[in-house]
Amino acid sequence: MSFDETSYQKISAGGRTFRHLFGPVNSRRLGVSLGVDMVPFKTCTLDCVYCECGATNRLSSDIKPWIPAAEIIEELDAYLSLDPHIDVITFAGSGEPTLNSDLPKVIAHVKDRWPSFKTVLITNSTLLFNETVRDAAIVCDYVLPSLDAVSEDAFVRINGPVKSISAAMVVDGLISFAQKYHGHLWVEVFIIEGVNDTDEELSAFKKILTEINPARVQLNSLDRPGTCAWVKPASRNRLEDIASFLSPLNVEIIARK
Ligand code: SF4
Repeated sequence: MSFDETSYQKISAGGRTFRHLFGPVNSRRLGVSLGVDMVPFKTCTLDCVYCECGATNRLSSDIKPWIPAAEIIEELDAYLSLDPHIDVITFAGSGEPTLNSDLPKVIAHVKDRWPSFKTVLITNSTLLFNETVRDAAIVCDYVLPSLDAVSEDAFVRINGPVKSISAAMVVDGLISFAQKYHGHLWVEVFIIEGVNDTDEELSAFKKILTEINPARVQLNSLDRPGTCAWVKPASRNRLEDIASFLSPLNVEIIARK
């Protein structure tokens, strides 16, 4: 998943430094976004070759209160009471936010106490097979899930998943979520030429994305250094070819170059 909605700049304001809040950044997609990191640094179900945070040091599919809701809510209330100029609160960060079982409590608190801010969830989609996770995500105004591979081979090569999660589980979870979700669903696909842009993979993407029917499909590629040196940015021409192939889906290219 991309991190356009967050930067990893910790916030110092009101005489303190916040541990779980980042940014705010002017997102290309959603306005001024305050990032909320729901897990300790680099706790993720995946170890993506393009991750801007570096290698995953805690590869896990354990859904638990990695950071208790009370700790995050205290920071949110303290920071938002300073009346910062932000448009959206984005749950993302240095790992997979849905790993935190307290995510629903934090989202509910934002909706109750700070209803003027839209809520955004950026997820790698790996835990959407879990109904409790789907129920947590469904109340967000925007959900930006990633889907980088449909074949198990490309999934392992690009996303380096924890052993308990397969590409088929990700696809099934995303389809189940999309069937019930009524907010803004923008699916991001990170293209790595020669890995997930084969004819076979793209045909499978098209079939699944058509079933998901998101408001947008966002094609991304490397624009900042990732974890692995062999990952190169996809060319603009290639991304445009893929966008045409996926038509009539509403595809936009969000890679900067
Ligand atoms: S899903 Fe991939 S890109 Fe996102 S934090 Fe995990 S390893 Fe990084």
